[in-house]
Amino acid sequence: MSHDPCPEFPEYSTASSSLDNLPFVLMLVLGAGMLRLSITDSAAGWIWAGLYVLAGALGVLNVMLRLCPYCPSYGKRSCPCGYGVIAAKLHRAGDPSAFSGRFRGGILPLVPLWFIPPIAALVALYDSFSRVLVILLAAFLLVGFVIIPVLSHQHGCKQCPQREACPWAGRTKPPVGGGAVEGPGNV
Ligand code: SF4
Repeated sequence: MSHDPCPEFPEYSTASSSLDNLPFVLMLVLGAGMLRLSITDSAAGWIWAGLYVLAGALGVLNVMLRLCPYCPSYGKRSCPCGYGVIAAKLHRAGDPSAFSGRFRGGILPLVPLWFIPPIAALVALYDSFSRVLVILLAAFLLVGFVIIPVLSHQHGCKQCPQREACPWAGRTKPPVGGGAVEGPGNV
């Protein structure tokens, strides 16, 4: 399935795509730290922290395999977070008209990553107060529920060629320039 070039959409450098992923990576690090501190047994805490990071990595891989092949930015630098370029090395192109139908399957596996660490932290704080855990929780909420959504809407979704078909980006105002649907690095 061909994905026609979209010259009106900007292209992103490797450095820009790397920076675009930083908030999601930071959220994973904060979430893993919260799980480690929330679980009294040290070994179990490390295991849950590792599983959390693994779930994040697998969630991103799922996006690359199930969603990106159906995006106009598949294989192109117009993907803000760079997943589209990696996806082209992992999976053949799909039909772009199927993008919106595949969106939830690509994104939903990532959703628990936003909720498991705060819930674990709140339960642990109810049992025993920890200033470090409170700081991690506040940082996690700031990154996960403020910075990532704001960057997603302001940086990628606003200029996305798929915004009309995208359940996430369709809630923001129409684009002025060009761009692409944000990956989970920004969702
Ligand atoms: S814009 Fe989103 S869906 Fe499109 S290739 Fe990039 S990460 Fe994948």
